[in-house]
Amino acid sequence: MSKIIVLGAGLSGLASASLLARAGHKVTVLDKQSWLGGKSRRIEVAGQIMDTGPALVTFTGVWDKLLKRYDELGASQSKSASEIADINFVKLNELGRYFYQDQVTDLPVKPDHEWFEAWDRFEKEHAPLTEPITELLTKMPTDPASLPALAKLQKRYGLRLTTSWYLKGLKWMPEKLKDIIAIHTLNAGIAPTKTLALYASMTAVMAADGIKVPVGGVNEIAQSLGKLAVAAGVEIKLNQQITKVQKRQVHTATEAYNADYIVSSLDPQVLKMLMTGKQASPAKHRSCSGIAIYAVLNKPLPADTVTHSVVMPDDPPELYASLETARLPNQTMAFVNYYQAQEIYPNSKPTVAVLLTAPADGKHYDLDHPWVKNEVARISSRMCLAEPITELFEDSMVLDPEYFGSYGAPGGALYGATKPLWQSGPFHNPQYKNPLRPWLYRVGASVHPGGGIPAVLGGAMNSIAGLLKKN
Ligand SMILES: Cc1cc2nc3c(=O)[nH]c(=O)nc-3n(C[C@H](O)[C@H](O)[C@H](O)COP(=O)(O)OP(=O)(O)OC[C@H]3O[C@@H](n4cnc5c(N)ncnc54)[C@H](O)[C@@H]3O)c2cc1C
Repeated sequence: MSKIIVLGAGLSGLASASLLARAGHKVTVLDKQSWLGGKSRRIEVAGQIMDTGPALVTFTGVWDKLLKRYDELGASQSKSASEIADINFVKLNELGRYFYQDQVTDLPVKPDHEWFEAWDRFEKEHAPLTEPITELLTKMPTDPASLPALAKLQKRYGLRLTTSWYLKGLKWMPEKLKDIIAIHTLNAGIAPTKTLALYASMTAVMAADGIKVPVGGVNEIAQSLGKLAVAAGVEIKLNQQITKVQKRQVHTATEAYNADYIVSSLDPQVLKMLMTGKQASPAKHRSCSGIAIYAVLNKPLPADTVTHSVVMPDDPPELYASLETARLPNQTMAFVNYYQAQEIYPNSKPTVAVLLTAPADGKHYDLDHPWVKNEVARISSRMCLAEPITELFEDSMVLDPEYFGSYGAPGGALYGATKPLWQSGPFHNPQYKNPLRPWLYRVGASVHPGGGIPAVLGGAMNSIAGLLKKN
């Protein structure tokens, strides 16, 4: 039995701790915040429950694989994962409603829309990649078992390496539909010119597989991971700011912990800072951040408002260029997640989250900031609301790059520094461990490309499998 300290109680830290403890190790998790889930946080606004951070779950097959792995590791334990953590995922009717220039379309595109034929062809060609992509999310790219999945992807994309390049080659697809598909790479925080062709498929895969939300909200995943961890014997210590990390030793303000292994879910720059004592400045090439507005509404939105709307900028390349140089774009991409009373959450009032893609500039923003005001007005008008959505707010909370930077990557970059193209997607070189530091393993949004929930859970499974092989 090894003694293991896990740094961070976000989704990746909790998933890692659960697996390690279930395999029989003595595990302690430390986190500076007062809640479980890191970026996935449950808040209360005007007495209503909301999720900050992730709102939608894709590739739920990865969650099933995690539970299966937990069960395999603790075959002799009395309770199975599904008895401890029972999540009920609800599939949304659509991937979203997209507002772009003069067009409005749902994805999947509806049969009465002029883009239906092109979308249908795209979906039929790409949706079968769900299984190979799920495989790659939970396996090391160097694992020979990944080869069949890699071969299937290679067959689809050929030599067209990037998302933009791949989509450009689809002569039969309307240009505006290409732009809508391409902008999804920002879900991973990076422009379509900088991401592998694989990302082009994500929209089709997400539309076919469905995007899901747990009943009670996404933080149910963090709560469930917490239950799995505690059931396996993990000690979770919140409100513990880690101040120093040394070889096999972790310091907080009040205690020093010795360990055989340390598993870090912290951003690599933050970890480096804790190991060297040197301040970190934002990486030159980093993923985007967000200005996230969470509000309780004093009346419902129009009856035909869907759960997930996406308002695009008129000029996506201008947005990509602005994010790269960490300046505010003229217009941004916004997600508007709307829940009626009693939908998903046990709330008595409707709620909305307006998520504005923003540069990782580490700055503070609020509803009075002129750029935020302009964008909120543009988004509201594009969604045909009679007034800016802020006029319907009973109460609200705004999280900004300053907040995301306070416990994540410098500048608030949601997925930290970006990697060169050849190191992203299935060809990535995940830095789960460094041969010079055999006591340290890494998990979290910055070590597995994609950065979303399936990537952090899959990445944790991969990294922990390496540690368990040794012990
Ligand atoms: C606004 C927003 C929207 C998103 N939407 C989606 C979505 O719809 N779907 C999706 O799949 N993904 C989404 N994501 C991404 C998803 O939230 C992340 O990929 C995932 O939550 C990252 O988990 P993690 O464990 O790697 O990191 P984190 O959640 O950042 O966990 C790291 C933990 O380390 C702790 N920590 C840091 N420094 C210290 C220290 N010095 N001492 C102690 N503890 C420390 C932090 O408090 C934190 O709890 C979104 C993210 C954001 C911010």
